[in-house]
Amino acid sequence: MSIRSADLLFTPIPERIARLRDLAYNLWWSWHPEAQDLYRHIDAELWEQDYHNPVDFLRDVRQRKLEAAAADPEYLAAYDQVMAAFDRYMSAEDTWYRRAYPGANEMIAYFSAEFGLHESLPIYSGGLGVLAGDHVKEASDLGLPFVAVGFIYPQGYFRQRLDQSGWQEAIYAKLNFADIAAMPALTADGREVVVEVDLPGRAIYAKVYRIQVGRVPLLLMDTDIHPNSPQDRELSARLYGGDQEMRVAQEIVLGIGGVRALRQLGLAPTVWHMNEGHSAFLVLELMREKVAQGVPFSEAWREVRSQAVFTTHTPVPAGNDAFPLQLIEKYFNQFWPHLGLTREQFNDLALQQQNWGPTFAMTVLALKGSHAHNGVSKLHGHVARGMWHWLYPGAPQEDVPITSITNGVHSSTWLAPAMRRLYDAALGPDWEDDLDNVARWQKVHDIPDQQLWETRQALKRELVALARERTRQRHLRLGSPPQVWPVLDEHILTIGFARRFATYKRATLLFRQPERLKHLLNRSDRPVQIIFAGKAHPADDPGKLFIQQVYQLSQQPGFLGRILFIEEYDMALARALVQGVDIWLNTPRRPHEASGTSGQKASLNGAVNISILDGWWPEAYNGNNGWAVGEEREYSNQDEQDWNDAQHLYRILEQEVLPIYYERGADGIPHRWMKICKEAIASVSPVFSTRRMVKEYVTRLYLPPVEAER
Ligand SMILES: *Cc1c(COP(=O)(O)O)cnc(C)c1O
Repeated sequence: MSIRSADLLFTPIPERIARLRDLAYNLWWSWHPEAQDLYRHIDAELWEQDYHNPVDFLRDVRQRKLEAAAADPEYLAAYDQVMAAFDRYMSAEDTWYRRAYPGANEMIAYFSAEFGLHESLPIYSGGLGVLAGDHVKEASDLGLPFVAVGFIYPQGYFRQRLDQSGWQEAIYAKLNFADIAAMPALTADGREVVVEVDLPGRAIYAKVYRIQVGRVPLLLMDTDIHPNSPQDRELSARLYGGDQEMRVAQEIVLGIGGVRALRQLGLAPTVWHMNEGHSAFLVLELMREKVAQGVPFSEAWREVRSQAVFTTHTPVPAGNDAFPLQLIEKYFNQFWPHLGLTREQFNDLALQQQNWGPTFAMTVLALKGSHAHNGVSKLHGHVARGMWHWLYPGAPQEDVPITSITNGVHSSTWLAPAMRRLYDAALGPDWEDDLDNVARWQKVHDIPDQQLWETRQALKRELVALARERTRQRHLRLGSPPQVWPVLDEHILTIGFARRFATYKRATLLFRQPERLKHLLNRSDRPVQIIFAGKAHPADDPGKLFIQQVYQLSQQPGFLGRILFIEEYDMALARALVQGVDIWLNTPRRPHEASGTSGQKASLNGAVNISILDGWWPEAYNGNNGWAVGEEREYSNQDEQDWNDAQHLYRILEQEVLPIYYERGADGIPHRWMKICKEAIASVSPVFSTRRMVKEYVTRLYLPPVEAER
């Protein structure tokens, strides 16, 4: 390996443990807790300070500490074990993909505007990004020939602070690329990759970085480079920042620039997966390439379509990008002649008359420009078929060609190590190779109640400790008086509610009747506490108002100490919450939640879902693995819907959840509760995993048409 300038900034690492650096540059560590432990054990305090980022850690660590580790036999044994596992993983020949498709010669390119891989890489805002990150990790685990494409945002997504009144403030910190596991992508002959894309009156350049995610390369573009104008350098500065014009430019760089980045690297994907419509301009670039080679437009269109796959995530019209035609004219009037199209023909590729008059809609472009399309749960598939029915006139709604593949989560990323040890014992140590085997997960019922209970209690204590530390830091920052203690009680029923504070998620549904809630939280024989977390989009004032309401209520007598809002929801806090709470609460206004995945993470760890029958939950709920709130029906009156759902939620908590949770055996253990936990684990883990999900993408969307062409 050539010497990088960054090498000079690392603390010299003793030879015996020198591969800590290789490991740091492959995000494989992000889903292998034992690999993270190799860094944590060297200096636990620094590991926290550097936010679990091994690259940063290796720059900051004291040499003395590295030397101590290199002289510790116990450490070295762990080191050797992790490195051997890492090597086995990276060189494995017998992956699922190889076995399922011997001799296949495909390559899948996966485009997404955000990727949630780890808390130290703030290039995601919420569920869409985390899903993309989990998809990439699973593609690596399954051995798919896969490359992912997105943006590296120099300022990332914002960090959240609440002021004294609970109003959200957004803080943008500069991300130093040398501190993360990103390296400039290099061509075969060692040149750095810079792509060029035309914008009105100028060219814009994007430098391409590469992050290795197990066996999969993730290519991330950055426009903050010379010789771009200051304005263009800002283009990829922040995730979802800027106005519509900035967004068009951003999406041009993502879709068109992304294809060019792959070409410079000599890659020729045979499947192009657009994760949401942000990257849909890629189909235009693929067509331009073909037309430039002399292929007639209609033939080029057919060929591109046959290779493209599109996943829609947004059941709300306003959530789908649609641009005014004038804006499109400004940005593409130099482009459509390359396709041999007139302006009208070009606009027709994505024309949407619905909602706000004629626009160029990215979802329409993606639907027309791909042969296979899916929503992300069965219910969402149904909703999407209704939303886009107008594009397929004459077809009955259920024949609209949008299928569904329900989201899942990447188990190793989200599973608590302590729970993993229970599964190792109950399911057999190789259970992960067999992750989507429903029958095998039934063995979870063999876990002794006492072990499961004690493990879950320990995880709750870890969560409470983290919540206290975060709260302490907040008080230090605000200089507020210390009498707001105590923070949380580690012995009582704990409910978690954490997700983006979009208003349709109804974070304040439980507050419909504050006195009833107060009573519910404070019965001395069965107390309850609720932990909230989540960010509102910086431009979403109604969302911020919801956060403020939660915060202010949490400061009032009767709620203080029983309701807590923790700042800065991210993957680290999400992990602690889904692993540490007893109940995961989900109250979207049906049918606005396309899938939701946080509840899947919760049940994987033995937390029980109480959820509206929206997104993935109607597929998972079986009567014994949690609770379903509300009815499977449509409302025309939102107030009525909110009221009915709140009433049902209160009833479930008062009459079922609390009595069962606080019913203890002679041994002090809530056996009926444990049964529900086990049923949640066994029914959710194998099905709502990326293992099942990515296999479905491969067998249903990625490979069938390719096979047909052979
Ligand atoms: C899993 C996850 C999400 C998605 O949660 P939903 O309940 O599906 O909205 C959002 N943000 C973070 C940080 C997550 O880990």
